[in-house]
Amino acid sequence: MLLEDIMEANWKFTHEIRPEVLDHHPQKHLAIVTCMDTRLVEILEPALGIHRGEAIEIKNAGNFVGGKHCDVIRSLVGAVYMLGVREVAVIGHSSCGMAKVDFQRLRDSMLAAGVAKQDLDELNLENWIGSFPDEKDNVLHTVQIIRNSRYLPKDMPVHGFMIDIETEELTVVVNGYQQIKR
Ligand code: ZN
Repeated sequence: MLLEDIMEANWKFTHEIRPEVLDHHPQKHLAIVTCMDTRLVEILEPALGIHRGEAIEIKNAGNFVGGKHCDVIRSLVGAVYMLGVREVAVIGHSSCGMAKVDFQRLRDSMLAAGVAKQDLDELNLENWIGSFPDEKDNVLHTVQIIRNSRYLPKDMPVHGFMIDIETEELTVVVNGYQQIKR
């Protein structure tokens, strides 16, 4: 049913609205690393004054960078060297589900669904899920990993923000320009 709904919505969308054809280079030379939370959909961009074609968005559970070879780093490499990104904004949010995940419950659900224990162990969930009790600390951690990445330019500002999921108010956690001056 969901598939049919999506196809119907797409038919209406393409027949009623004709989106502007844009180049894929971000006009604001900005890459945003943020959470996949549903409540940020349609809210994050207007809350930042970002429009279509202006920024790259990399989303995952908890705006988390798992290490130097994480997919987020690879995507940023593409964004910087191929698409002209010059600044990164890591945006965490209040009441992030990733800060409250019950690891044992997740494990049990996966085992019950037929995931092999060995495969589950290889997924290394302990180093990811529930690994940050505080959303702001997680933003600091993610900013630090991106800033220290050997694959990214040393002089690229990496900002950290927190957004309030209810009021959409943005707070600067890390000013990337100041970090570079030091
Ligand atoms: Zn989240």
